[in-house]
Amino acid sequence: MRAMVLHAPDTPFVLEERPDPIAGDNEIVAKVLACGSGLTIHHAVRGRTDATFPRVIGHEILGEIVEIGSGVAGFSVGDRVTTHAYITCGYCKWCKADREPLCDNLAGFVGRHVDGGYAEYVKLPARTFIKVPETLDHNKHPAEISVICDAIVTPYKVLKRARITPLDTVAVIGAGGGVGIHMVMLAKWAHARVIAVDISADKLAACREVGADATVDASHENVAAALKDATGGGVDVVVDFVSSKATLEAGVHALGKGGRLVTLGGNAMPFEVSAANLLVNEIDVLGSKSFTAGEIGEALEICARGEVSPLVTETYSLEEVNTVHERLEAEAITGRAAIVM
Ligand SMILES: [Zn+2]
Repeated sequence: MRAMVLHAPDTPFVLEERPDPIAGDNEIVAKVLACGSGLTIHHAVRGRTDATFPRVIGHEILGEIVEIGSGVAGFSVGDRVTTHAYITCGYCKWCKADREPLCDNLAGFVGRHVDGGYAEYVKLPARTFIKVPETLDHNKHPAEISVICDAIVTPYKVLKRARITPLDTVAVIGAGGGVGIHMVMLAKWAHARVIAVDISADKLAACREVGADATVDASHENVAAALKDATGGGVDVVVDFVSSKATLEAGVHALGKGGRLVTLGGNAMPFEVSAANLLVNEIDVLGSKSFTAGEIGEALEICARGEVSPLVTETYSLEEVNTVHERLEAEAITGRAAIVM
């Protein structure tokens, strides 16, 4: 099979011919139909997150099952599937409690520690795969379906983690990014009022197109003051995809009573927060790490019902992944990019 292989961080992908994978016990091999290209994998490409090399990266996979190993139940050859990026054990207390991203025995991340979707075929543990509803048209929208397992389910999980209701005003910091813009979309789907915060006029315009009620341009506005002005007392939820010291502190200052600040990692910097503020205003500071396989199934169902649709603005062939990652580094992509085979 053809695969785009990364031999070390910050080097170009190399097109290689590799043996087709063969399914072992409890494994499935799928033909890759499309694979999303987002910041999570881009950080691995640039050496900013942990990965092992040489590696075929890519975890937002839409595939079609071509081989099933022994011991696998519930799947058939020909099933359309997507993937959960976390290789979890399935039996620890966190897996049992439906909080798989906290698994005590995490065996790695698809596309960073085991080979992923920038290839013609992918072989993974069977429990990593989730069936795609047949009502999602994989011939017409392969790129869009491939990114649901990250771009839609990440904000879907945040809705639950931050207990977002239709009465809430939600500020999204880094709203123009690949997942940020889908957070705007999902918060609108949940009937919240949404304020998009970003530093590019083009990206803020894209946020308005997907439903943002208001925008704050952080390149020349004081974010906390602008959010307080816009809400007369403070926002209910801040979702911070940037998570620098400055954005986290602006976020916590922008919250009103009962406010919730959610960090999705991003720069993952330490920041200062007043315990008096947490106490007096009953503020919650939350992290939202990934999601469960069950939540991926729910996100697929929401898309299958036509409630929301992922925004993929650029598609490329397998051989063009170097171009995609140059554009990701330049922050030039609105919404998501994907490889379509
Ligand atoms: Zn586990």
